[in-house]
Amino acid sequence: MKKADIKTGFLCNNNCLFCVQGPEKKKFGNKSTKELKAIIKKAKKGCDTIVFTGGEPTIRKDLIELVALAKTLGFRTIQIQSNGRMFVYEKFCKDIVAAGANEFALALHGHTPQLHNYLTGAESFRQIVGGIKTLKKMGQVVITNTVITKSNYRHLPEIAKILIGLGVDQLQFAFVHPLGAAGRNFDSIVPRMEMVAPYLKKATDVGRVLNKKVMTEGIPFCFLDGYEDGISETVMPDIKIFEQIEVIDDYAKIRITNDKAKGPKCAKCIYNDICEGPWKEYPQVFGWDEFRPVNKKK
Ligand code: SF4
Repeated sequence: MKKADIKTGFLCNNNCLFCVQGPEKKKFGNKSTKELKAIIKKAKKGCDTIVFTGGEPTIRKDLIELVALAKTLGFRTIQIQSNGRMFVYEKFCKDIVAAGANEFALALHGHTPQLHNYLTGAESFRQIVGGIKTLKKMGQVVITNTVITKSNYRHLPEIAKILIGLGVDQLQFAFVHPLGAAGRNFDSIVPRMEMVAPYLKKATDVGRVLNKKVMTEGIPFCFLDGYEDGISETVMPDIKIFEQIEVIDDYAKIRITNDKAKGPKCAKCIYNDICEGPWKEYPQVFGWDEFRPVNKKK
């Protein structure tokens, strides 16, 4: 069975410097309630878990109603992927949990209000931190994502400490995908993977000591010796994406063939068969010098 990724639309109350969405935001807006209900019913055929994403799904007035429909249809896991701001409101948390949501994937990008608010283009740090606290107080599963950028990579260990202190169940650090706003802001947003790796390993160690799962995304094996078990691409579920105008039946296939790239030396690497390589835009700017084939496991 697959995981259905329901794109509820492109509208969002943040304005992240690293957002992968570009002009689509304004072009498509949000889907109607009727459209989404039809999509959710369609998704039940072949999918047993569902994630509501956006844009930002929590700014929709009908989200509780949509979650309730997913619950009635029998989805096992109902995840809300969000910038986390709405979860500062306890009533909203109670209502969405009562409707059937049982997993929350929220995003923290800085260890200070200044950094997180700068990257998200909104006064959102206090709200996301408050949201995580509220959900954890209610005993909910909270997993987090942090987009790795030039501004925050040196602070990944501090971000890990904050998140673990808040009691999150799993952390993920995802290398920025240089598309949309992130592509336009490439020079100020995209760091060198070689520079990121030591901080990412330290952040993973912060979690390891406390038995917390720390995953990484978008960074190949050749940067993560000793930390290969946290590479999320090797354990990602089969995902079917219900996009704005199309359905992507096999996201992994599209991701590997269209969105990622391999370098001229990758064929010599022991991870070549399981490694997806970096987002293709990265070597288009920085080249392949940093990507050194791995000869043997340490
Ligand atoms: S296959 Fe290429 S990108 Fe992947 S780990 Fe090996 S050298 Fe790095």
